[in-house]
Amino acid sequence: MEIKRLVRENILKMKSYSSARDEFSGVDGLFLDANENPYQNGVNRYPDPYQQELKIVIAEQRSVELEQVLLGNGSDEVLDLLFRAFCEPKQDNVVLASPSYGMYKVLANLNDVRCNEVLLESDFSLDADKIIAATDENTKLIILCSPNNPTGNSISKEVVEKVLNNTNCLVVVDEAYIDFSLSNSLINYLNKYDQLIVCQTLSKYYGMAGIRLGMCFASKEIIAILNRIKPPYNVNVLTQNKAIELLKNKNDDYKNEVTEERNRLKESLSSLSFVIEVYPSDANFLLVKTINANEVYNQLLAQNIIIRNRTNEPLCKGCVRISIGTKEENTALIAGLKNIKI
Ligand code: PMP
Repeated sequence: MEIKRLVRENILKMKSYSSARDEFSGVDGLFLDANENPYQNGVNRYPDPYQQELKIVIAEQRSVELEQVLLGNGSDEVLDLLFRAFCEPKQDNVVLASPSYGMYKVLANLNDVRCNEVLLESDFSLDADKIIAATDENTKLIILCSPNNPTGNSISKEVVEKVLNNTNCLVVVDEAYIDFSLSNSLINYLNKYDQLIVCQTLSKYYGMAGIRLGMCFASKEIIAILNRIKPPYNVNVLTQNKAIELLKNKNDDYKNEVTEERNRLKESLSSLSFVIEVYPSDANFLLVKTINANEVYNQLLAQNIIIRNRTNEPLCKGCVRISIGTKEENTALIAGLKNIKI
């Protein structure tokens, strides 16, 4: 697919900002080029605009080439860059599944881009044909989330491939929760589909929500376009250093712990009289259908336990979303749930 055809004309034509560290990238020297404060305090210099050291670690762990990686200030920034690079305001549109992560719609509105929303099926699966039918000649992005927030289920590879094989736009798969899932990442498909974009984050499984590091994996051509428009120093020095440190010391026990706790929580929740259904989850949260989500939310809040009320989301009437906490936190949650009277 010719990716250039999908890029906004002004982005293709514009000259990118050239930062001091773009023009000189050596490590040694007398740096008098960026109007920084010269006195060392650990953060007085601008960060590497292309985060080479961090990208080497990420690219190796994900088995992709360095040029296939773009990093951002959280995946929210990465997603915003995608809208700004490819969607012409007031003219282009994006196709979204619903319910899904709320930021997609916010970013579309922010960028003045229309959303064609496709409702998931009653079991929260995605019908590829409905997604394909929702596209038109002005569709630039299809954004799918797998595992999906807030429903917790993954989209099957066959469904994503059907969408990829039958559309002429970019297909973004947001894999924020992929490391909790039994499914493999679609990163392995990047070399097969040049219009595929996979977004991931260090905010969930990797336990680094506080440092804000989002990752985008795609063809070199797509990454080069995003690099043209990203803010020059979008990932700060502290984030780059902490991400390198924690990624190199990754602890895989957490995945098993989440799965065990998710099962334990699911069992406890299922036995409660006000719970109608606990949906299967491939993520670190559970979507739970209750007879009255507002009551469940408020009565837990009164006990200082904060969950997410999702009752106003499409297909989610009566639903709350509960993150999997530590063993102790989940035990406290179960005790709190048992105090609820509806
Ligand atoms: N995608 C999904 C599906 C999410 O649920 C979230 C955060 N809740 C994000 C992206 C945002 O991640 P980040 O912290 O990297 O901005």
